[in-house]
Amino acid sequence: MDRVQFIEAVRAAGVVGEGGAGFPAHVKYAGSADTVIANGCECEPLLHTDRHHMERDARAAAGALAELKRASGAGRGIFALKKKQTRAIPQVREACGDFGLEMALLEDFYPAGDEQILVRELTGRSVPALGIPLQAGCMVANVGTLVSVDAALRGASVTHKTLTVTGEVRQPGIVRVPVGTSMDECLAAAGGALVADPVFILGGPMMGRLVENEATLKKEHVAKTDGGLIALPRGHCLHLNASQNVERMRRRAAAACIQCRFCSDLCPRMLIGQPFETHRVMRVFGAGAEMESEAGRKAHLCSGCGVCEHYACPMRLSPRRVNQAIKQALNNAKILYDGPRGTKEEQTRPREYRKIPLSRLASRLGVSRYMGLETPDLGTLKPDVIRVPLGRHIGAPALPLVLPGQKVRSGECIGEIPEKSLGARAHAGINGVVVSVDDAVTIRSEEYA
Ligand code: SF4
Ligand code: SF4
Repeated sequence: MDRVQFIEAVRAAGVVGEGGAGFPAHVKYAGSADTVIANGCECEPLLHTDRHHMERDARAAAGALAELKRASGAGRGIFALKKKQTRAIPQVREACGDFGLEMALLEDFYPAGDEQILVRELTGRSVPALGIPLQAGCMVANVGTLVSVDAALRGASVTHKTLTVTGEVRQPGIVRVPVGTSMDECLAAAGGALVADPVFILGGPMMGRLVENEATLKKEHVAKTDGGLIALPRGHCLHLNASQNVERMRRRAAAACIQCRFCSDLCPRMLIGQPFETHRVMRVFGAGAEMESEAGRKAHLCSGCGVCEHYACPMRLSPRRVNQAIKQALNNAKILYDGPRGTKEEQTRPREYRKIPLSRLASRLGVSRYMGLETPDLGTLKPDVIRVPLGRHIGAPALPLVLPGQKVRSGECIGEIPEKSLGARAHAGINGVVVSVDDAVTIRSEEYA
């Protein structure tokens, strides 16, 4: 398969980055790199989705990485996972041997799975501020994405997604569901919540999104970028933290930020040399001057990893959420980052001893008791209704190709990339009839000849 055929197969199948970003893979893979990296270093506490992929489908992921290596003209292909993923290591080692890839084993620190941190770990190169790994000669692909690429090369579209469902649930585990399945069905597959009136996090505890109650969870539908669902008791510290509004965060920043710099000194982006100083963002935010100051514009450089908020700050302030709020306001006002983008090597020197062990992080997050939970394979769900999102990826929403009343088959393309736009196709994950079309295509299951 040549490069053009590879890219076309990935585009046709609707593959996007499944690690969370949702960048269309056919665009990401169109460049040239000297190193391609499979990212199996899932670093959010409690999530085991990538580990599951590697234990089950290491050969598929490695085969896809080898194809990506060929297509991008890379000289090195590295399959990266963690030393602690002992059940996956033999499969990955064997697959790497068969496909001529290197295997790299990383320590269990956060955020090992951030692609910029991974590039630094494996190559010693730093991606510039607001840059992408390609600017350091690398292409990084999440292992779940690579499993989808392998399927795409055999003509299968992205119709299903694998998630970890854990926390306060009866049977924590891994579920595979058609894209568009309601999140409350994923919860039910794990036996439902163990506590009354729970709250939920979609994604991991560090970077995930809060869902306030079960009624709201019913309205959430699985996208290609989702990797986890965590149930927590109402009033858990993650719930309280995520519930603060901007004005409360501002009052707390003004009253309690002691400018100790811990948020800056432990920031993984600062530690790969990028010009980011979170404590200065907090200072101008507390003074209400973030929109007109150079320090405020630095919020654009934040990756949202959460180290500052969940680990570094002794005053329990929320620099990550502050950065997110400022970024949103700057984007709305069309104010871009106009500062330096180069990296400073001297900033990287303390990196090695500022890596954050996952067990210590879990303890700070109040989720240690869920860390050791077994997450067996709970199988594949067959929901009666799915709501396939047309726009939960980076770029323009897909244009619907179907109308209410129309019959569709699993794997059929139901949303096309708008002409000359960045985007990804959408596909049906069940056989059925289209019920409605808006920002998603709702399909009711129906078997027919
Ligand atoms: S770690 Fe907390 S208190 Fe210290 S400078 Fe950062 S936000 Fe302020
Ligand atoms: S969330 Fe905090 S630690 Fe992470 S990149 Fe942003 S400022 Fe740095």
